[in-house]
Amino acid sequence: MFSLDKYQSNHYITIMEIRQNKLTGEWIIISPERGKRPGDFKKKGIEDKKIPEYDKDCPFCDGNEKYLIHPFIMETQGVNENPWQTRVLLNKYPALTPEKDVSRSKKGIYLTMPAYGHHEVIIDHPKHNMCIGLMQEEEIRAVIETYWRRYTKLMEDERNLMVIIFQNHGVQAGTSLVHPHSQLIATGIVPSHLRVREEESLRYFDDFGRCVMCDILNYENKNRERMLFENDSFLSFIPFAAEVPFEIWIVPRKHNASFGDICEEERDKLASIFRKVMHLLYERLNDPDYNYMILSATRYAAFEPHIHWYLRIRPRLTTQAGFEIGSGISINPSLPEENAEFLRSELNR
Ligand SMILES: [Zn+2]
Ligand SMILES: [Zn+2]
Repeated sequence: MFSLDKYQSNHYITIMEIRQNKLTGEWIIISPERGKRPGDFKKKGIEDKKIPEYDKDCPFCDGNEKYLIHPFIMETQGVNENPWQTRVLLNKYPALTPEKDVSRSKKGIYLTMPAYGHHEVIIDHPKHNMCIGLMQEEEIRAVIETYWRRYTKLMEDERNLMVIIFQNHGVQAGTSLVHPHSQLIATGIVPSHLRVREEESLRYFDDFGRCVMCDILNYENKNRERMLFENDSFLSFIPFAAEVPFEIWIVPRKHNASFGDICEEERDKLASIFRKVMHLLYERLNDPDYNYMILSATRYAAFEPHIHWYLRIRPRLTTQAGFEIGSGISINPSLPEENAEFLRSELNR
């Protein structure tokens, strides 16, 4: 005989709650799979992966500059024994090009514009088998400095309405080259996710007279359930409505809408906390695939009291299924508080 109790215990009981991301207003289903513990999300098969320090066919390895078709836009000095530390160049297959302009035109009832923008690649380290999770703090400091210098430089051009810096690590995250690298995109258009966030934050500011992220920081600092690391300038924690298992935010304590406005000391502190977070992920989850991005204000919101820039890390430990693609609602099959505890337990060992 069909038993509703049995049916419910097999299916529905795992759905715990739907949580709202206060920055975007988006709702996320938090539905930990029964019997699955945070450690079960660890990436499998890391032992098989033997990547050499140098690959003769890799265009980003030191000494292989002959493979590159674009000159370097900038290079930072090597730390330790490294010949150089970071390099920036145009993407070989750019999605956007700076030679175009931002004028809109009509095609019937539709709008169109030339593919104006910058699409740059940042080589994060001279060694082929290096990754952010294994870099030393001075090396990560050079990566942050490179991000910041390119960000501020590109924001000088009024056509650039936003600059987004991101990294894809691992096949699941969509990377095509093993050599550690990041990408930067500057555009004359504003993507809807930034627009939505700015509008939501403005609504919150109108209601309460405060920045939503400043309120989140205060709350997480007191609550501590999801907290990871902190220093004088930054907090890192798993957000309340994490979209995926082990999503992490690194947020500056000082209110600043734009990443471009942080001072030298904050860049030092960012390198320090970023290294700790990425190393912990590497150790605890076996070098997981991930995407991270710096989410800063658009040009015209760069001094607003309601926007607060932050760095978002999104590990790729699960795959989206039809439910998420069809409904646009994410399901996180883990509990943010448990994930934070799992990561913190490494620190106390
Ligand atoms: Zn390489
Ligand atoms: Zn703020």
